[in-house]
Amino acid sequence: MRFETKAVHAGGDSDPGTGAVAPPIHLSTTFERSARDGQPLHGYSYIRDHSPTQTRLEEALAAIDSAESALVFGSGMAAASALFQALPGGHVLLPADGYYALRTLAAEFFPRWGLTSALVALEDLGAVRAAVRPDTVAIWCESPSNPLMKIVDIAGLASIAHDAGGLLIADDTFATPALQRSIELGADVTMHSMTKYLGGHSDVQGGSLAFRSRGELVQRVEHVREIIGGVLSPFNSWLVLRGIRSLAPRMRVHCENARAVAQFLSKHPRVESVHYPGLPSHPGHEIARRQMSDFGGMISFLVRGGREEALGVAAKTRVFTRATSLGGVESLIEHRASSEGPGSNTPQNLLRLSVGLEHFQDLVDDLAQALE
Ligand SMILES: *Cc1c(COP(=O)(O)O)cnc(C)c1O
Repeated sequence: MRFETKAVHAGGDSDPGTGAVAPPIHLSTTFERSARDGQPLHGYSYIRDHSPTQTRLEEALAAIDSAESALVFGSGMAAASALFQALPGGHVLLPADGYYALRTLAAEFFPRWGLTSALVALEDLGAVRAAVRPDTVAIWCESPSNPLMKIVDIAGLASIAHDAGGLLIADDTFATPALQRSIELGADVTMHSMTKYLGGHSDVQGGSLAFRSRGELVQRVEHVREIIGGVLSPFNSWLVLRGIRSLAPRMRVHCENARAVAQFLSKHPRVESVHYPGLPSHPGHEIARRQMSDFGGMISFLVRGGREEALGVAAKTRVFTRATSLGGVESLIEHRASSEGPGSNTPQNLLRLSVGLEHFQDLVDDLAQALE
């Protein structure tokens, strides 16, 4: 079946007890056991291990991401942390441009988990080969990356990781499985902050890992989740499952609108540069065309001048809301360096847009008046 069909149906069998077509939310924290042998009657025991609504979401995620299995967590960072805690100790390559909390995780917590790390420009495969060490256990990539929208060659990175005996892990939050399925390109694990496009409505937090194969690594990560406890609640599982049902058509409109906004910005005299992989001038455009079916709804751009000029543009938007996060139906604008705080190496004149599902002309008009 094609992506759109899987997104609508996976994990969606009618409820056997009632015939309900929409999935039920099972809030129970505990499940009855057999009188005969004391074993769980239906495979469920306690909510921190597994629960039925969560299982539906995991089935859906595995199906749409071309994975053999998936695990969901209370946030994207909980998913990432569980995976790193499950790795044998060793060295990890992280993207020089990428989600800032991941760098904090590496700096503050990797040493306790027996891990070391290095930040590498992953879009440069030569630099990656030079940075790989005999003890490299994983390369973590993000494409498009936050906030500079760099594109990495996922198949190329997978072969470098595999030659080194390590894993390629892809944070596909910006791309979503609708546009890029990194497991098909060679990645071993994909991670999604479901807080973003998968939830899709800025009202639920969650994270997921999807695995190329149902092997020992899945069991180790599942054990970390059971013991450390970063599980996703039944209600949040249900909300994300609901979001996935409309992921494909939402992403089509996010991409169309972002294309129009990026084209508008790229011609504006007050804009120094636009980072959007859909623009032919983007250094990763050709790779993005090969490995993505479209270019996504995220854009960043540099305003001529500095911090004050960028903040001044963000101050004037009326349709775009000034807020962090991304992937919801509403458009957001963010002065990223302010959100990342001290220690951020994001350019002070950078604004990041999450282009939503409004009419594209209203978005373009809003930016036009803000840039006046
Ligand atoms: C938001 C985000 C995360 C972290 O996800 P949370 O759900 O906020 O924990 C990780 N990677 C990327 C690219 C993100 O945008």
